[in-house]
Amino acid sequence: MSPARPQRVCVLGATGSVGVNTLDVIERHPDRFELVAISGHRNIERLAQQTRAFQPRWVVVPDDEARHQLQDLLGPVTTDILVGEAALAEVAASPDVDVVMAAIVGSAGLTSSLAAARAGKRLLLANKESLVVAGDLLMRAVAESGAQLLPIDSEHNAIFQCLPAEHRRQGVASVLLTASGGPFLHTPAAQLARVTPAQAVAHPNWSMGAKISVDSASLMNKGLELIEACWLFGLTPADVEVVVHPESIIHSMVRYLDGSVIAQLGTPDMRTPIAYGLGYPERITSGSAPLAFDPTLKLTFDQPDRQRFPCLRLAEEAIAAGGTLPTVLNAANEVSVAAFLDERLGFTDLARINEQTMDRLGTMAVSSVEQLLEVDHRARQVATTVIKEMSA
Ligand code: NAD
Ligand code: MG
Repeated sequence: MSPARPQRVCVLGATGSVGVNTLDVIERHPDRFELVAISGHRNIERLAQQTRAFQPRWVVVPDDEARHQLQDLLGPVTTDILVGEAALAEVAASPDVDVVMAAIVGSAGLTSSLAAARAGKRLLLANKESLVVAGDLLMRAVAESGAQLLPIDSEHNAIFQCLPAEHRRQGVASVLLTASGGPFLHTPAAQLARVTPAQAVAHPNWSMGAKISVDSASLMNKGLELIEACWLFGLTPADVEVVVHPESIIHSMVRYLDGSVIAQLGTPDMRTPIAYGLGYPERITSGSAPLAFDPTLKLTFDQPDRQRFPCLRLAEEAIAAGGTLPTVLNAANEVSVAAFLDERLGFTDLARINEQTMDRLGTMAVSSVEQLLEVDHRARQVATTVIKEMSA
């Protein structure tokens, strides 16, 4: 069964890994979805291809240079090219949009995620940093506007699927957040300082953007996801057990008071959670390969190593302290990951930069989005200073 008229979808971060997968699912269901707006930041060639293929009403680019480049690549088209961060929020809140996929990476996605939430959209949230930076404000905006927030991060999508449909906390003992452990799961501590960006982004199971791949390697991703889970499902860190599951077949689980554990399984393919969010409450095809239950299927489990991967511990400390500390950690981490990818830092420096930035800035009570954006800005400056001091 298809809806009476196609849902009008806006994909922010269309040129990235989640964005491309989203367009792939949308293309499979022309009767259900109409792509009306997309955005891209750097890869303007890909944005031009997507514009030609889908002919959305709006395309958002970061600046005039990107607009000229896109215009040259496209020639005469009916698509309106909009420029700048304010335009991202504008299309996300447009009355001509029903569904917003928030797939921008980093805190750069916050204002547009918030705009979609305030405008009461169905918000498909891949941009976990929005919740890490401003979880309280974003969840409140969703509640006040009647927006529908569906998690796209595979673990949170799995938890959403495993929770009771009604009375979502009833009988729940804990949430089991699975972690692949990343490419350095078995790398001895002494070798971690010398691993390269190329090794860090080579994730064993998932093909993702560079930033989240480094986060997966450092377990910062699991730390950010712990914070994300607390906001999404109204949990405390004590309600969440992080479990290493290197095969990435179980995407997360819910443990119930009666001893039952409900898991969501599937091949590691982001099109599954994306299709779940797009089709909800119906199930639609995603293009992902069916999971084969044969002797090659192995499901193994372990505990995370917070000694070798201190970023997980930093996230636990940040959410426990609350206030603006998760915002500080997220900003420091965006700066340190960029420096690592640029070969200006070693892998084990990531946690040191993040921790020192947290120590220097401490936490404050959250008052407004403007304050959080200011804290984000300040934490980036402090992290940059810490990196300079370390390499002096
Ligand atoms: P990516 O780097 O592949 O793509 C990021 C997108 O954001 C691109 O379209 C890029 O042009 C845009 N972008 C980058 N900087 C921007 C800025 N300053 N302003 C506006 N747009 C900007 O990233 P990704 O792997 O697709 O991840 C996107 C988000 O989804 C992240 O928050 C990530 O944590 C989350 N996520 C990704 C995956 C995955 O499989 N890739 C899984 C779960 C969650
Ligand atoms: Mg995830």
